Amino acid sequence: MNIIFLGPPGAGKGTQSKLLEERYGLIQISTGDMLRAEVSKGSETGKQAKALMDAGKLVPDELIIAMLKSRIAQADCQNGFILDGFPRTLAQAEELDSMLSSDGKKIDTVLFLDVDEEILADRISGRFTCGNCGKTYNEVSNPPKVEGTCDSCGSHEFKRRADDKRETVVERLKEYRKLTAPILPFYEKTGRLHKINGMLSASEVTGEIEDALASEGLITKK
Ligand code: AMP
Repeated sequence: MNIIFLGPPGAGKGTQSKLLEERYGLIQISTGDMLRAEVSKGSETGKQAKALMDAGKLVPDELIIAMLKSRIAQADCQNGFILDGFPRTLAQAEELDSMLSSDGKKIDTVLFLDVDEEILADRISGRFTCGNCGKTYNEVSNPPKVEGTCDSCGSHEFKRRADDKRETVVERLKEYRKLTAPILPFYEKTGRLHKINGMLSASEVTGEIEDALASEGLITKK
Protein backbone atom coordinates (compact mmCIF):
# COMPACT_ATOMS: atom_id res chain seq x y z
CA MET A 1 0.00 0.00 0.00
CA ASN A 2 1.25 3.44 -0.93
CA ILE A 3 0.10 6.43 1.12
CA ILE A 4 0.55 10.18 0.96
CA PHE A 5 0.41 12.41 4.03
CA LEU A 6 -0.64 15.93 3.13
CA GLY A 7 -0.88 18.85 5.50
CA PRO A 8 0.86 22.05 6.54
CA PRO A 9 4.20 22.09 8.36
CA GLY A 10 3.61 21.01 11.95
CA ALA A 11 0.45 19.02 11.21
CA GLY A 12 2.01 15.79 12.51
CA LYS A 13 2.89 14.10 9.20
CA GLY A 14 6.30 12.94 10.42
CA THR A 15 5.05 11.66 13.78
CA GLN A 16 2.15 9.75 12.25
CA SER A 17 4.15 8.30 9.37
CA LYS A 18 6.82 6.98 11.75
CA LEU A 19 4.08 5.29 13.73
CA LEU A 20 2.56 3.65 10.65
CA GLU A 21 6.03 2.61 9.56
CA GLU A 22 6.58 0.78 12.87
CA ARG A 23 3.10 -0.72 13.03
CA TYR A 24 2.57 -1.82 9.43
CA GLY A 25 6.08 -2.24 8.04
CA LEU A 26 5.75 0.52 5.47
CA ILE A 27 8.69 2.72 4.56
CA GLN A 28 8.51 6.40 5.50
CA ILE A 29 9.91 8.65 2.81
CA SER A 30 10.43 12.16 4.10
CA THR A 31 11.77 14.40 1.36
CA GLY A 32 12.67 16.98 4.05
CA ASP A 33 14.80 14.39 5.91
CA MET A 34 16.43 13.35 2.63
CA LEU A 35 17.31 16.95 1.83
CA ARG A 36 18.65 17.58 5.35
CA ALA A 37 20.89 14.51 4.92
CA GLU A 38 22.18 15.94 1.62
CA VAL A 39 22.86 19.30 3.31
CA SER A 40 24.82 17.56 6.09
CA LYS A 41 26.86 15.62 3.52
CA GLY A 42 27.58 18.84 1.66
CA SER A 43 26.55 17.22 -1.65
CA GLU A 44 25.71 19.20 -4.80
CA THR A 45 21.98 18.65 -4.13
CA GLY A 46 22.46 19.79 -0.54
CA LYS A 47 24.22 22.94 -1.69
CA GLN A 48 21.41 23.77 -4.11
CA ALA A 49 18.74 23.16 -1.48
CA LYS A 50 20.24 24.76 1.63
CA ALA A 51 19.57 28.45 1.01
CA LEU A 52 15.99 27.76 -0.09
CA MET A 53 15.31 25.55 2.93
CA ASP A 54 16.79 28.13 5.31
CA ALA A 55 14.51 30.76 3.76
CA GLY A 56 11.43 28.51 4.15
CA LYS A 57 11.02 28.21 0.36
CA LEU A 58 10.36 25.04 -1.62
CA VAL A 59 13.23 23.57 -3.62
CA PRO A 60 12.72 23.23 -7.41
CA ASP A 61 10.36 20.50 -8.61
CA GLU A 62 12.99 18.87 -10.90
CA LEU A 63 15.43 18.40 -8.04
CA ILE A 64 12.93 16.85 -5.64
CA ILE A 65 11.21 14.71 -8.27
CA ALA A 66 14.53 13.18 -9.34
CA MET A 67 15.38 12.45 -5.71
CA LEU A 68 12.01 10.85 -5.00
CA LYS A 69 12.07 8.79 -8.18
CA SER A 70 15.33 7.11 -7.30
CA ARG A 71 14.19 6.52 -3.69
CA ILE A 72 10.93 4.74 -4.56
CA ALA A 73 12.76 2.54 -7.05
CA GLN A 74 14.78 1.02 -4.19
CA ALA A 75 14.05 -2.53 -3.02
CA ASP A 76 12.75 -1.59 0.46
CA CYS A 77 9.92 0.50 -1.05
CA GLN A 78 8.42 -2.27 -3.13
CA ASN A 79 5.98 -3.42 -0.41
CA GLY A 80 4.65 0.04 0.22
CA PHE A 81 5.67 3.50 1.31
CA ILE A 82 4.38 6.58 3.07
CA LEU A 83 5.19 9.90 1.48
CA ASP A 84 5.77 12.58 4.09
CA GLY A 85 6.35 16.01 2.54
CA PHE A 86 5.84 15.02 -1.10
CA PRO A 87 4.07 16.08 -3.28
CA ARG A 88 4.12 19.77 -2.42
CA THR A 89 3.10 21.25 -5.78
CA LEU A 90 0.59 20.25 -8.41
CA ALA A 91 3.43 19.46 -10.83
CA GLN A 92 4.90 17.03 -8.26
CA ALA A 93 1.49 15.37 -7.76
CA GLU A 94 1.01 14.90 -11.50
CA GLU A 95 4.55 13.62 -12.00
CA LEU A 96 4.12 11.17 -9.11
CA ASP A 97 1.02 9.63 -10.69
CA SER A 98 2.76 9.24 -14.02
CA MET A 99 5.98 7.77 -12.56
CA LEU A 100 3.98 5.24 -10.53
CA SER A 101 1.63 4.24 -13.34
CA SER A 102 4.52 3.62 -15.71
CA ASP A 103 5.65 1.08 -13.08
CA GLY A 104 2.20 -0.48 -12.63
CA LYS A 105 1.80 1.16 -9.22
CA LYS A 106 -0.50 3.76 -7.69
CA ILE A 107 -1.25 5.82 -4.61
CA ASP A 108 -3.90 3.96 -2.62
CA THR A 109 -4.93 6.77 -0.36
CA VAL A 110 -4.16 10.35 0.62
CA LEU A 111 -4.45 11.40 4.25
CA PHE A 112 -4.85 15.12 4.82
CA LEU A 113 -4.00 16.21 8.37
CA ASP A 114 -6.12 19.28 8.94
CA VAL A 115 -4.84 21.73 11.58
CA ASP A 116 -5.84 25.37 12.12
CA GLU A 117 -3.07 27.74 11.14
CA GLU A 118 -2.99 29.60 14.50
CA ILE A 119 -1.92 26.38 16.23
CA LEU A 120 0.89 25.50 13.82
CA ALA A 121 3.47 28.18 14.66
CA ASP A 122 3.35 27.27 18.37
CA ARG A 123 3.54 23.56 17.63
CA ILE A 124 6.55 23.96 15.36
CA SER A 125 8.51 26.28 17.61
CA GLY A 126 8.09 23.79 20.49
CA ARG A 127 9.25 20.71 18.64
CA PHE A 128 12.56 18.88 18.90
CA THR A 129 13.91 15.40 18.24
CA CYS A 130 16.30 12.96 19.84
CA GLY A 131 19.73 13.47 18.28
CA ASN A 132 20.37 9.74 18.45
CA CYS A 133 17.21 7.86 17.42
CA GLY A 134 15.13 10.69 15.90
CA LYS A 135 12.09 10.31 18.18
CA THR A 136 10.00 13.49 18.02
CA TYR A 137 8.89 15.55 21.01
CA ASN A 138 7.12 18.80 21.80
CA GLU A 139 7.87 21.02 24.80
CA VAL A 140 4.19 21.50 25.57
CA SER A 141 2.19 18.60 24.20
CA ASN A 142 4.66 15.73 24.21
CA PRO A 143 7.77 16.19 26.39
CA PRO A 144 10.03 13.21 27.28
CA LYS A 145 8.76 11.31 30.35
CA VAL A 146 12.02 12.13 32.16
CA GLU A 147 13.22 15.65 31.35
CA GLY A 148 16.35 15.62 29.19
CA THR A 149 16.24 11.87 28.48
CA CYS A 150 14.87 10.24 25.35
CA ASP A 151 12.02 7.80 26.14
CA SER A 152 13.13 5.42 23.39
CA CYS A 153 16.93 5.24 23.57
CA GLY A 154 17.92 7.09 26.77
CA SER A 155 20.07 9.61 24.90
CA HIS A 156 20.50 13.11 26.39
CA GLU A 157 21.20 14.76 23.03
CA PHE A 158 18.31 16.63 21.43
CA LYS A 159 18.18 18.81 18.35
CA ARG A 160 15.95 21.37 16.69
CA ARG A 161 15.55 22.08 12.99
CA ALA A 162 17.17 25.28 11.72
CA ASP A 163 13.97 26.16 9.81
CA ASP A 164 11.69 25.81 12.86
CA LYS A 165 12.44 29.45 13.81
CA ARG A 166 9.29 31.61 13.89
CA GLU A 167 10.35 33.87 10.96
CA THR A 168 11.02 30.88 8.74
CA VAL A 169 7.81 29.17 9.81
CA VAL A 170 5.81 32.18 8.54
CA GLU A 171 7.47 31.76 5.13
CA ARG A 172 6.90 27.99 5.12
CA LEU A 173 3.20 28.49 5.84
CA LYS A 174 3.00 31.02 2.99
CA GLU A 175 4.55 28.49 0.60
CA TYR A 176 2.12 25.86 1.85
CA ARG A 177 -0.91 28.11 1.22
CA LYS A 178 0.31 29.22 -2.19
CA LEU A 179 1.74 26.01 -3.66
CA THR A 180 0.69 22.96 -1.63
CA ALA A 181 -2.92 23.59 -0.54
CA PRO A 182 -4.01 23.74 -4.23
CA ILE A 183 -3.15 20.01 -4.50
CA LEU A 184 -6.10 19.06 -2.30
CA PRO A 185 -8.75 19.35 -5.06
CA PHE A 186 -6.51 17.20 -7.33
CA TYR A 187 -6.84 14.27 -4.89
CA GLU A 188 -10.42 15.12 -3.83
CA LYS A 189 -11.49 14.71 -7.47
CA THR A 190 -10.16 11.17 -7.57
CA GLY A 191 -11.94 10.18 -4.33
CA ARG A 192 -8.62 9.28 -2.73
CA LEU A 193 -8.59 11.99 -0.07
CA HIS A 194 -9.37 11.40 3.62
CA LYS A 195 -9.58 14.45 5.82
CA ILE A 196 -8.27 13.74 9.33
CA ASN A 197 -8.68 16.10 12.28
CA GLY A 198 -5.03 16.76 13.15
CA MET A 199 -5.92 18.80 16.24
CA LEU A 200 -6.84 15.76 18.31
CA SER A 201 -4.23 14.09 20.53
CA ALA A 202 -1.54 12.13 18.65
CA SER A 203 -3.10 8.78 19.60
CA GLU A 204 -6.58 9.91 18.56
CA VAL A 205 -5.17 11.07 15.22
CA THR A 206 -3.58 7.64 14.76
CA GLY A 207 -6.97 6.06 15.48
CA GLU A 208 -8.65 8.21 12.81
CA ILE A 209 -5.93 7.35 10.32
CA GLU A 210 -6.31 3.65 11.01
CA ASP A 211 -10.10 3.95 10.62
CA ALA A 212 -9.59 5.63 7.24
CA LEU A 213 -7.14 2.94 6.07
CA ALA A 214 -9.41 0.15 7.38
CA SER A 215 -12.42 1.68 5.59
CA GLU A 216 -10.49 1.28 2.33
CA GLY A 217 -9.63 -2.33 3.20
CA LEU A 218 -5.92 -1.40 3.33
CA ILE A 219 -5.28 -2.56 6.91
CA THR A 220 -6.81 -4.60 9.66
CA LYS A 221 -6.60 -2.39 12.74
CA LYS A 222 -3.98 -3.50 15.29
P1 AMP B 1 9.91 19.25 5.66
O1 AMP B 1 10.87 18.51 6.52
O2 AMP B 1 8.97 18.33 4.91
O3 AMP B 1 9.17 20.33 6.40
O4 AMP B 1 10.79 19.99 4.53
C1 AMP B 1 11.78 20.93 4.88
C2 AMP B 1 12.13 21.77 3.66
O5 AMP B 1 12.64 20.93 2.62
C3 AMP B 1 10.95 22.50 3.03
O6 AMP B 1 10.68 23.75 3.66
C4 AMP B 1 11.46 22.68 1.60
O7 AMP B 1 12.45 23.70 1.53
C5 AMP B 1 12.19 21.36 1.34
N1 AMP B 1 11.28 20.32 0.79
C6 AMP B 1 10.95 19.13 1.35
N2 AMP B 1 10.12 18.44 0.56
C7 AMP B 1 9.91 19.20 -0.54
C8 AMP B 1 9.14 19.04 -1.72
N3 AMP B 1 8.40 17.94 -1.93
N4 AMP B 1 9.18 20.02 -2.65
C9 AMP B 1 9.92 21.14 -2.46
N5 AMP B 1 10.66 21.37 -1.36
C10 AMP B 1 10.67 20.40 -0.39
